Amino acid sequence: MSVTAGVVAVQGDVAEHAAAIARAAARYEESVEVLEVREAGLVPECDVLAVPGGESTTISRLLHDEGIAAEVRDHVAAGKPVLATCAGLIVLSSDARDDRVSPLGLVDVAVERNAFGRQAESFEAPLAVSGLEEPFPAVFIRAPVIDEVGDAEVLAEWDGRAVAVRDGPVVATAFHPELTPDARLHGLAFFE
Ligand code: GLN
Repeated sequence: MSVTAGVVAVQGDVAEHAAAIARAAARYEESVEVLEVREAGLVPECDVLAVPGGESTTISRLLHDEGIAAEVRDHVAAGKPVLATCAGLIVLSSDARDDRVSPLGLVDVAVERNAFGRQAESFEAPLAVSGLEEPFPAVFIRAPVIDEVGDAEVLAEWDGRAVAVRDGPVVATAFHPELTPDARLHGLAFFE
């Protein structure tokens, strides 16, 4: 049976997620069909869902305007996997500490947008991630930091701060696993 994977495609790095999902599926010998989600009605078709990086203010506004936000909530309530990266983490958080973002409250963390900007706009670091045997090459681009963790499991920390968490069926990262050839995080989120 084929897995239907949605990539929220209102804005952000959509093609990269679609490619990473295909690589992860190949590793797990799963066949996958990827749908780009730009309007309501598609998320209910999806077994798994990626919410990409981009600009969280824009993504959050379009998700609410298009009626996709409620469908993402239903997807998570049904226990179906989600991988949210960077802006996706901000959009799914319970507190984005920014009035321009209406977060969905699906990952019980508070985030600070662009928190790594002070030390470096963008960088790559080998990151120990709970559930992965070898360090993951984590690409941070104007990344948020998770500065309060509620009822969620911290999967990775960088510089003493949480940068990946799991909350039920949702894995959320401050970095961009879709921007490296390494598909282990998509595998961890979707196929394990
Ligand atoms: N800085 C962006 C935001 O706050 C996130 C950056 C990204 O997704 N690479 O929305």
